Amino acid sequence: MFEFEIIARDPGTRARAGRLFTPHGVVETPAFMPVGTQGTVKGLDPSELSTAGAQMILANTYHLAQRPGAAVIERFGGLHGFMRWDGPILTDSGGFQVWSLALRAPERQLVRIDDDGVTFASHVDGRRWRFTPESATDLQIQLGADVIMALDQCTSAEVDEQYARRAAERTHHWARRCRDRWLERQAQGSRSQALFGIIQGGHYRDLRRWSAETIVALDLPGIAIGGESIGYSKVDTASILDWIGDLLPENRPRYAMGVGDPDGFLVAIERGIDLFDSVLPTRLARHGALLHREGRLRILAAEFQTDERPIDPECRCLACRQFTRAYLHHLFKCRELLGYRLATLHNLTFCLDRVSSIRTALLEGRFEEFRSDVKQQPARPGGRSWQRHVAC
Ligand SMILES: [Zn+2]
Repeated sequence: MFEFEIIARDPGTRARAGRLFTPHGVVETPAFMPVGTQGTVKGLDPSELSTAGAQMILANTYHLAQRPGAAVIERFGGLHGFMRWDGPILTDSGGFQVWSLALRAPERQLVRIDDDGVTFASHVDGRRWRFTPESATDLQIQLGADVIMALDQCTSAEVDEQYARRAAERTHHWARRCRDRWLERQAQGSRSQALFGIIQGGHYRDLRRWSAETIVALDLPGIAIGGESIGYSKVDTASILDWIGDLLPENRPRYAMGVGDPDGFLVAIERGIDLFDSVLPTRLARHGALLHREGRLRILAAEFQTDERPIDPECRCLACRQFTRAYLHHLFKCRELLGYRLATLHNLTFCLDRVSSIRTALLEGRFEEFRSDVKQQPARPGGRSWQRHVAC
């Protein structure tokens, strides 16, 4: 039920186009996965997501295990039945969320990590939770996603090599335990799900290569590359993917966690990545930062108050087909819900179309041409930077 095939390659880079077969349909790769943290991509219903071009979406185990609880979701036939999205779904293991919880309030010591798992106090009600490799796997099987992730320990850019090594070691140990649990559950007849292992190792080349070799040796259906730097800086993401590129098996899908800006897609795809996700496009949308091929538009800026143009005349989304920048500006000024919805629709459509056009270029053998066209595109004042809005 879970297979991956490559149907086109770029001869000059590691870029490839493929098809990922899952129990809930085929994902044409490379593919960007919108994030539905709480079992919803904020503001959009499943049909709008499909219209925007989403093939596979991501949901967060950390959040859903707390609210409404994995058992509740299971009663409704898993996430597919509960949220009525019938396409493929990937759930993360909770490792990243626990790590960001620890970062958010280090003084409160909300998170304790040991060799057996993580203990944390819920950001919702303070209740204590314990995730182990086994429980994170069981929770994801209950949620019923098509792709589930091994529990991992993320590290920040600031940690020293010794700390990063310890975290990678733990991640490897946990990945083995997740694999064993996943195999055990499969033998007991659990629904067919694919487990991906996660490569860690921070900003250290040797650690990244060691982690890649270790995770690849587990022979899981897919390989993910995680860590704070993936997705937070294009330069770091590029270096890390370059360090490990030769170690990744050709016949497995590769997932760069947290890559979600339009330039980052190209950086990842030319390094052989097939899947990526990020909250960036939807988060930017809610802050009135609209993606445009020349850079972002901050729709609340005075320059858009009487602007009669659509956000992007070449975009096919509802926001661009029916409304003006002036109207969007007004909606955001008044904090109207429609503004957030239209902005989200636009940003997702923009990202999904960008990845889809890269795929088409790969299939038609003109990836190199596509890359040079992108590099020559004019930029708005301030450049084509989307990243500065990540933290807003
Ligand atoms: Zn649009």
